[in-house]
Amino acid sequence: MRKIIIAGNWKMYKTSVEAVELVTELKRTLGDMNDVDVVVCPPATALAEVKDVLNECSIGLGAQNMYWDDFGAFTGEVSAPMIKAIGVEYIIIGHSERRQFFGETDATVNKKIKAALKHQLIPIVCIGEVLAERESGKTFDVIKTQLEGSLVNLTAAETENLILAYEPVWAIGTGKTATPDQAQEVHKFIREWLTKKFDAAVANKVRIQYGGSVKPENTAELMGQPDIDGALVGGASLKSDSFAAIVKNCLALK
Ligand code: PEP
Repeated sequence: MRKIIIAGNWKMYKTSVEAVELVTELKRTLGDMNDVDVVVCPPATALAEVKDVLNECSIGLGAQNMYWDDFGAFTGEVSAPMIKAIGVEYIIIGHSERRQFFGETDATVNKKIKAALKHQLIPIVCIGEVLAERESGKTFDVIKTQLEGSLVNLTAAETENLILAYEPVWAIGTGKTATPDQAQEVHKFIREWLTKKFDAAVANKVRIQYGGSVKPENTAELMGQPDIDGALVGGASLKSDSFAAIVKNCLALK
């Protein structure tokens, strides 16, 4: 049985003060939640202060990006050991906004996954098609290419530690959500790909989140699908009441 995992991607929102306010409210409402894994991913500038609030509660801490080398002359970047030292446990890798605006590719995603695993960070690896790809019937080809490139040279044991996030790019921040059937058929495809590449044991272990305009009203239907194991939430994670409602709407499922 895979445990549902709901992660909030705060993107480039919230100063440290605002982040502490939000996470303090979340700790009050979700801080002893054990039936669902809950993770918040604030901007890098707020990680340390958010961690101070999260001490001794069940909410996990994630970062939104990192570089693959441990240290070096890479102005503006942060590394896995740096975020690990703050107490970060999860790392979002290859979000479509990073692919679209910062030139990330499946090859750089692969390097980041390996660096994260080396430092015992849990990667949340994002994949998903853009609208033109879906409309021209290329969704499965795109997903397959992203999986092959992003997970190249990973062992079964390494892959079991990943979380995958299927995020159709046309659904991110647009208010358009994939229907439960649309999302489920891609999640099923991903799990079948994992079975072919490794085996059923690996495929059954990997949690696959859905992301793209998840809100309290559509959570139960999406999370009720057999291959959907959680959500990566953008906009609705920026307010404690909507994020808490998403988490609570997962209780009683699975
Ligand atoms: C995201 O940022 O990963 C995301 C899914 O955003 P939103 O929920 O706002 O669509």
